[in-house]
Amino acid sequence: MARALFAFTRDLRLSDHAGLAAAARHGDIVPVLVIDVPSSARLRRSPRRAAWYCAAVRSLDADLRSRGSSLIVRRGKPGPVLRGLARAAGAGVVGWSCGYDAKTMRGDRDLQSALEEAGLRALPVHDQPAVPPEDSAAGHRGGDGYRAFVPYFAQWRTLVPTPDAGSATFAAHDIASEALPQPEEFGAEGIDTGPAGEAHARRTLGAFLALPVLHYGVARNVPAACETSRLSGALSFGLLAAREVVRATCDRASDPFLMAEERSSIRLFLRALAQRDFFLQLGWYNESLAEEPLQAKMRGFAFARAHPLLDAWQIGRTGFPLVDAGMRELIATGWMHPRVRAIAASFLCFDLGVDWRAGRDWWDQLLIEDDPALAAGNWQWVAGVGADLAAYPRIYNPLKQARHFDPSARYIRAWVPELAGLPDVAIFDPVGLRRERQLTLSLFGDGTYPSPGLDHEAAARAFLARYAREVRASA
Ligand SMILES: Cc1cc2nc3c(=O)[nH]c(=O)nc-3n(C[C@H](O)[C@H](O)[C@H](O)COP(=O)(O)OP(=O)(O)OC[C@H]3O[C@@H](n4cnc5c(N)ncnc54)[C@H](O)[C@@H]3O)c2cc1C
Repeated sequence: MARALFAFTRDLRLSDHAGLAAAARHGDIVPVLVIDVPSSARLRRSPRRAAWYCAAVRSLDADLRSRGSSLIVRRGKPGPVLRGLARAAGAGVVGWSCGYDAKTMRGDRDLQSALEEAGLRALPVHDQPAVPPEDSAAGHRGGDGYRAFVPYFAQWRTLVPTPDAGSATFAAHDIASEALPQPEEFGAEGIDTGPAGEAHARRTLGAFLALPVLHYGVARNVPAACETSRLSGALSFGLLAAREVVRATCDRASDPFLMAEERSSIRLFLRALAQRDFFLQLGWYNESLAEEPLQAKMRGFAFARAHPLLDAWQIGRTGFPLVDAGMRELIATGWMHPRVRAIAASFLCFDLGVDWRAGRDWWDQLLIEDDPALAAGNWQWVAGVGADLAAYPRIYNPLKQARHFDPSARYIRAWVPELAGLPDVAIFDPVGLRRERQLTLSLFGDGTYPSPGLDHEAAARAFLARYAREVRASA
């Protein structure tokens, strides 16, 4: 029986798997996981991510064993490792799923050359997005992808729901494996991730679509409201196909008994999934996205690399309660609510004037998600240098945003316990509180919650003036 090798990357599942299905056309699959120096270094950056990854790999191996095969783990350079394994397995084809950030894309190209030079057929396949970049880009601007989300979304909607890509039959093999990756290997011992794997991700999706999706319109803005899907980690490691999430969401939308707001919530959730595909295709067609602003006019704009409040931002002690709550949620859980992400990122870029790349890199050490392309696209968007085509960046007022989106301060109290006992009015106006009540509440002192470290209005005005000068100079 013919065999094909498949190397898992950020696609740690067996069903609805475009890469596996494509490789399986050439024979039974011999499943491989190669841990090279760059992937090991990335896992070391975020211990929570590493612990999650190890749990997901364990689950993948268990699923493969239940299908009569097992994962072959190797540590080393993918080219030589896969060439050797292809020889040992008698496989002429090696498949894997494409990456969407410059580093992974370069690695993919190197791997393709190394395999082809050895006479093997290399089969890189689009699996991460629900809609592959080439499908959405067909017929658009010479096929080099969209730079604006609105027209992209209009096109994307014509291409969903996305069909199941299929799966594979796996070969029983007797090729020895190195040990499965363990958290200790990446400095992540002792971190409890809870369950991670395809079955758990599917249960999370099912539970979300049963009810919370109907309130997504509120949940995506109000961090203390019912839940957003919390699927970002699972999607990032490919524990679930984005295609499956889109299909199941479209199915849910077909329920004839839904109310108008519920339908609108489901549409907003689909829009979020389209945003993911949008940023993946942006990374695919713009390899400099990780380092260089997409907007040519902003390439000379000098963000600061440092600010006296940068350390405070990183650990959630700026004195702006919603920003601090978000950063503390991220540190404690490896995830931050989507609305709060935008507010905390805006604070870094505009109130502190600090480079979006510094924020992106800090979050990269804390997030479970492993999505360089989504991180770069979103950070550029917030910083006003990327795919958002608004004339000026949206600068969020962190105190107004808190009043609006956390009106009973439930989220803030949960993550900033120093403020838990204070009345709402004090939480929403820490500046006024400092003026009027600090003596009685002894709020702002060593070891207590800090006073706001800057004047938001003044900082935002100064930033906008600089931004406007840059835009005029480059016109
Ligand atoms: C500065 C900044 C950085 C971000 N970095 C990342 C990142 O590294 N990885 C990441 O997955 N998301 C990132 N996001 C997008 C978004 O905040 C997260 O996807 C979301 O918070 C994840 O929670 P959820 O799964 O409950 O999302 P939901 O709101 O339930 O959305 C469902 C899924 O849609 C996708 N999605 C939603 N919004 C976006 C978006 N704006 N861009 C891309 N995909 C989206 C995600 O896969 C998400 O899991 C970032 C947003 C900002 C403002």
